[in-house]
Amino acid sequence: MRKKLAAGNWKMNGLSASLTELETLKTAHPAPSVEVLICPPSTLITSAVVTAADHPLQIGGQDCHANEAGAHTGDISAAMIKDAGASYVLTGHSERRTDHNESDATIRAKTRAAHEAGLTAVVCIGETLEEREAANTLQIIAGQLAASLPDILAAENTVIAYEPVWAIGTGKVPTTNQIGEVHDFIRTKLEQRYGEGVGRSIRILYGGSVKASNADEIFAVSNVDGALVGGASLKASDFGPIVTALENA
Ligand code: PEP
Repeated sequence: MRKKLAAGNWKMNGLSASLTELETLKTAHPAPSVEVLICPPSTLITSAVVTAADHPLQIGGQDCHANEAGAHTGDISAAMIKDAGASYVLTGHSERRTDHNESDATIRAKTRAAHEAGLTAVVCIGETLEEREAANTLQIIAGQLAASLPDILAAENTVIAYEPVWAIGTGKVPTTNQIGEVHDFIRTKLEQRYGEGVGRSIRILYGGSVKASNADEIFAVSNVDGALVGGASLKASDFGPIVTALENA
């Protein structure tokens, strides 16, 4: 059984005062039946971990360097994120791929570093609008999966997030058929590469303009094990109903 996961990515948003959103989330969901994860900016990881200490709420980083330590000004390593008390880290978010020219090889190295540090990596993949319109979606997904994932991984330390680039922060959402086609394809690829046991146990999240109003229909799609949520994760009043929708799916 795959435990469903509602994950929030705060991106470059949030000051200390934003931690009250975590308090509100905890109060609204004292004992969630799904896993709940918030990835705040790295400045807030430690305080978010303290805020979440009496609750199953998980805290994650949004990116890590591939190296454990060294002369990389401004970067943080997976070991540092783990040391701060987090349990997850995002790798390969499309904003990192675009803003920082991250390649699949870089993402694979970061994912490996996350695993070595004892973190669960949420590896993000997804096609651009041009790629979808050219009917290349599955080919792009296959290539990103092949090159961004390490050869050795476990279902416990790896989550895939399918995030069509054109759906992130735009309010545009693929049809449920389109989501289902890609998620089923990812599942098949994972089973082929890692064997049925591991491939069937890795969670696959959908991400891209998920809101309370569309969560129910997205969570009903086969092989959708939860969501990676950007904008709608910033406020507990928006994210809480998404958690509820996942609990009821
Ligand atoms: C994201 O940042 O991963 C994301 C899916 O953003 P949004 O929910 O705002 O589209």
